[in-house]
Amino acid sequence: MNKKLRFNTATIHGGQSPDPAYGAVMPPIYQTSTYAQITPGGHKGFEYSRTHNPTRQALEKSLASIEDGQHGLAFASGLAAMDAVMKLLSPGDEIISTNDLYGGSYRLFTKIFEGFGLKFHFVAMNNLDHVEAAINSNTKLIWVETPTNPMMNIVDIKGISQIAKKHKLLLAVDNTFASPYLQQPLNLGADIVMHSATKYLAGHSDVVLGSLVVNDQKLANRLSFIQNASGAVPGPMDSFLTLRGIKTLHVRLQRHCENGKAVAHYLAAHPKVEMVYWPGFDSHPNHEVAKKQMRDFGGMLSFIPKGADHAAAIKIIENLKVFTLAESLGGVESLAGHPASMTHASIPKEEREKSGVVDSLIRLSVGIEDAQDLIDDLEQAIG
Ligand SMILES: *Cc1c(COP(=O)(O)O)cnc(C)c1O
Repeated sequence: MNKKLRFNTATIHGGQSPDPAYGAVMPPIYQTSTYAQITPGGHKGFEYSRTHNPTRQALEKSLASIEDGQHGLAFASGLAAMDAVMKLLSPGDEIISTNDLYGGSYRLFTKIFEGFGLKFHFVAMNNLDHVEAAINSNTKLIWVETPTNPMMNIVDIKGISQIAKKHKLLLAVDNTFASPYLQQPLNLGADIVMHSATKYLAGHSDVVLGSLVVNDQKLANRLSFIQNASGAVPGPMDSFLTLRGIKTLHVRLQRHCENGKAVAHYLAAHPKVEMVYWPGFDSHPNHEVAKKQMRDFGGMLSFIPKGADHAAAIKIIENLKVFTLAESLGGVESLAGHPASMTHASIPKEEREKSGVVDSLIRLSVGIEDAQDLIDDLEQAIG
């Protein structure tokens, strides 16, 4: 299919065609490591499954299509995808990154890549001047996460992309929290869009997988070289599950957004809630940017119960019955988490609190259950 598909069609058909062998409508799980050759080097485009696998290739085409990009690459996890991006760089290169970053991303940058001579500057990107001020002659890459985790700050992707272009820097956007249903960073000027497909793309909490999508052919070639040379590829079964998840992305996200809105408004009106972080509120400091670059406001939010300390916040989370206490997000089921001791435990307390991740902060990934059951659950837990 060459005609450009609208988003709700791209999720289902993007880059897909019935399997040539038997016409299977769903790409089969090609559970094989290798492929028969007629003569050395004489094969049907597939030699070895670290390099290429038909199920993974179907997924990679789908990923490119839903991000409205040219080239998709799938990895064993979101962090493996980020690892590949960092390997585009060399010792001495500097990276400017969003400060309230997913904990695992922060750990990858500081505990692995700083050791290989990369230097990271973590800045509050809701002020573009902070980004410009951190640029020097060694800067090569800007790494953006928006909405941020777990504070739901919004970074102006287009604004950052203008800075990146002016200084000839690569711009990569972690689009995990938004998904391409809400925003397509390549169309806002990013060079690389990254996903933990583990979350909204796969959407059913049953797979760990990562992805990159780019437009530039040279960049795609280099990343695909790294993908093969470093070898952090997903297996065919996980590729299949992610592809299957993507087919309902638009329907799920629509409901995530509706439920997220209902829960955010319920919490904001609750007398025992101090603060709700959700970009859909007029009072959110980056609401205007969110409105401009996102189609809707998503199903992720965080809140602080009034007067709660660490123990009181944990008690509320433990009291929840429909929400499951678990790491991760973006699945059909609602999850609750405690960033300070879970996703952000690897960030030192001082660093954490600088960006607002206090001990009483509770993060919710609002699922696609009946919104009233979610609200009733919060009501009994907050008390
Ligand atoms: C989960 C997550 C990652 C890491 O992805 P994995 O698939 O767990 O490796 C990166 N960024 C964000 C925003 C995430 O939520």
